[in-house]
Amino acid sequence: MNNVILLRFGELYLKGKNRGYFEKTLISNIKQALKNLPCVVVKSSGRYFVKDYDVTIETQIINKLTKVFGLVSLSRAVEIDSNKQKIEQYISTIKLDTGTFRVSVNRADKDFPTKSNIFEQQLGGILLNNNKNLKVDLKNYETEVVVDIRENKKTYISTDKIKCQGGMPLSTAGRGLLLLSGGIDSPVAGYMIARRGLSLSAVHFYSFPYTSEQAKQKVITLAQKLTEYVGHIRLYMCKFTHIQEEIHKHAAPEYMITIMRRIMMRISAKICKQDNLKAIITGENLGQVASQTVESITVTNFAQTEYPIFRPLIGFDKQDITKIAEKIDTFETSILPYEDCCTVFLPKNPIIKPKLEKVIAEENKLDIDSLIEEALNELEILEI
Ligand code: ATP
Ligand code: MG
Repeated sequence: MNNVILLRFGELYLKGKNRGYFEKTLISNIKQALKNLPCVVVKSSGRYFVKDYDVTIETQIINKLTKVFGLVSLSRAVEIDSNKQKIEQYISTIKLDTGTFRVSVNRADKDFPTKSNIFEQQLGGILLNNNKNLKVDLKNYETEVVVDIRENKKTYISTDKIKCQGGMPLSTAGRGLLLLSGGIDSPVAGYMIARRGLSLSAVHFYSFPYTSEQAKQKVITLAQKLTEYVGHIRLYMCKFTHIQEEIHKHAAPEYMITIMRRIMMRISAKICKQDNLKAIITGENLGQVASQTVESITVTNFAQTEYPIFRPLIGFDKQDITKIAEKIDTFETSILPYEDCCTVFLPKNPIIKPKLEKVIAEENKLDIDSLIEEALNELEILEI
């Protein structure tokens, strides 16, 4: 008898001709996630399993697997020979004590002598005999005892089903650039888009000495937390100080944020080009602040038109975003009280409905191209 973990994929099976590629990528992502844990990932009779591990590391393996995009659920199972007595013997050791249950037998091996529905009743009887307070409920069961009799003469028995992330395997959509501030939203935006298969690089704009070293460290911590889900992140640190000083000096104060955001987009587009990234991702959310009105977003979009800007949180309520931030463990870090560059030289009345011609007129008061070049020259790269 072996302990195994049974893996279930979801959506990826819908992908027709691409299926092979998606499956290969998912398996490679799973192996990467488990690389420091001694175990093997195998395919047998069309199913994937993790096996040959010591039970003492089972929880660690499961913890890693539940963060791999593309896996829908997993079950801890035992693998035994497809022998009726052996299966019954194992079932008689299961302790469930109270609650409701059902037994589901899947007989892929038609040589197995007992038909599924009959075997389900027999095994249910054994469970009831050994667990006096247990009740059968075929529809609203708390526990499903699954007995999967495979063609390879092995049977897999499980009593739990652990939910995983779902989504698409990481990197099947390519790689994008996440604008990572120290706030609550952008790490969540990164998580959401990575869940659709996009790997991440990230860029953070900081304004040292107006923003502190701790503010920078906070972003590094957030990137580290994201790597639990998205693997390696290349983090670009972009010094924004001179740009902000120049905008502050030359442009009308109410356009400060609008111009900053447009310059962020242009720098991001340059990084995308250099590093072969396919999209820009932000944590913007409609209506949250002045820079996130339809008009502001429109003006921001015109700053560069080479790359799409994905805003996965655009229609989310703050409450929903916070829930995800807690789930991915970025919330506590995000609420640390260090200033973001967006709060430096913050105007009292930022323009809420900017007009593109007016923004461009304000921008023409600065030498934006050389400011961008200077920032790109000073770019720092951290591999997280
Ligand atoms: P967040 O919680 O992600 O900071 P926010 O609600 O505070 O978002 P803004 O400050 O307007 O909103 O920022 C909107 C988006 O712009 C952020 O989600 C992020 O993607 C990007 N952004 C803002 N500031 C920075 C920064 N200093 N570095 C990189 N990206 C930034
Ligand atoms: Mg912010």
